[in-house]
Amino acid sequence: MSSIVLATRNDHKVREFERLLPGVAIAPLPASAPTPEETGATYAENALIKARSAAQATGEPSFADDSGIEAEALDWRPGVYTARFAGPDASDGENLAKLHREAPAGSRARYVCVIAYVSPDGGEELFEGTCEGTLAEQPAGGGGFGYDPLFVPVEFPDRTMAELTDEQKDAISHRGKAARALAAWLAGGRGA
Ligand code: IMP
Repeated sequence: MSSIVLATRNDHKVREFERLLPGVAIAPLPASAPTPEETGATYAENALIKARSAAQATGEPSFADDSGIEAEALDWRPGVYTARFAGPDASDGENLAKLHREAPAGSRARYVCVIAYVSPDGGEELFEGTCEGTLAEQPAGGGGFGYDPLFVPVEFPDRTMAELTDEQKDAISHRGKAARALAAWLAGGRGA
């Protein structure tokens, strides 16, 4: 299979996708490729913006994910604005601290991931995964990234996502589910 460009500069996402798509030759996004503005109103729109930009810059099939966390106590925000929750250049730690302040422990939350696959001839496909959980009393754990220290998945009610092994996170995560749908589609020979 020819390689597919992963349109992200987030090293955590790169590592997770390399684990999740072992049979796929993933090429890095070239340093010269532009970083498009994520102006979409939905995960799908933002994933498409990133994947289209990479396919156009490289001439290679490309994929990107857009992901976020949704908290019931915040009327299911921040959603598509998850990366900018605490401000335009907020760090993961600042974002997590704001969610911890604003949403009570034990309240429901979910992660969502949408992957867009774009081939240079204009073919486009979307794959989605969600992961349900609640918010922890206190952040815990050093694994994963982003909001993982505050997210308790329903499958492991006594641990945060950041306390799981990589294998445990991959088996239940929003990104794991979306990536497995992409892998099945690629294995069906439908990618470029
Ligand atoms: P994106 O890179 O524009 O898709 O933004 C994703 C946002 O959701 C960032 O704030 C990430 O930290 C957060 N996020 C996405 N996936 C995960 C995850 O698996 N664990 C923790 N945080 C995540």
